[in-house]
Amino acid sequence: MARYCPQCGQPTRRREDGGRERDACPACGWVQYAEIGVGVGALILRDERALLVERGIPPVGRWTLPGGWIEQEDTLATAIVREVQEETGLRCNPVGVICLRSIPRPARNDLYVCLLCTVDPLAEPSADGSETRQARFIAPEEFDRIDLSPFSRYVIEHYLRERPRPWLLQEDRRLLEAYPGAAIFAPF
Ligand SMILES: [Zn+2]
Repeated sequence: MARYCPQCGQPTRRREDGGRERDACPACGWVQYAEIGVGVGALILRDERALLVERGIPPVGRWTLPGGWIEQEDTLATAIVREVQEETGLRCNPVGVICLRSIPRPARNDLYVCLLCTVDPLAEPSADGSETRQARFIAPEEFDRIDLSPFSRYVIEHYLRERPRPWLLQEDRRLLEAYPGAAIFAPF
């Protein structure tokens, strides 16, 4: 629901668009489509172990890949760098996308994007002690002994087994000049 237009500030009105009633701006034409939350998670490996964090906020004690939600001004790349830094203290470099998960939810459609990232091989992770209680590299043999998110486990185990080439962060200068500020990922 949007009472005011985020582009120009005018009060919105309901109108039909694409087969359903939506909030829309009579002044500038802005239309409220789906509410979508995009989450990012980082797969960061060291010696066949994956960097995991133990949550200090609900669900407390659950281990997951480090990550978080993207903000309005983010790309997937800026979001994952910030979220990994906050949760583990490590500065990561996004390499590419390895997995997507799309879940329809009534309040906010949930899209989660998993990125393969690298970190300085000598840097040690450290949790902030509140949002994350622990941050460390964990081997798959330990997964049965921690409360690991099923999705994180799925991504880690499949990646380690199959080593797929990620959808790489594109560096083509002409493409990036056409889309300033964009982070673009593709399988080529
Ligand atoms: Zn408007």
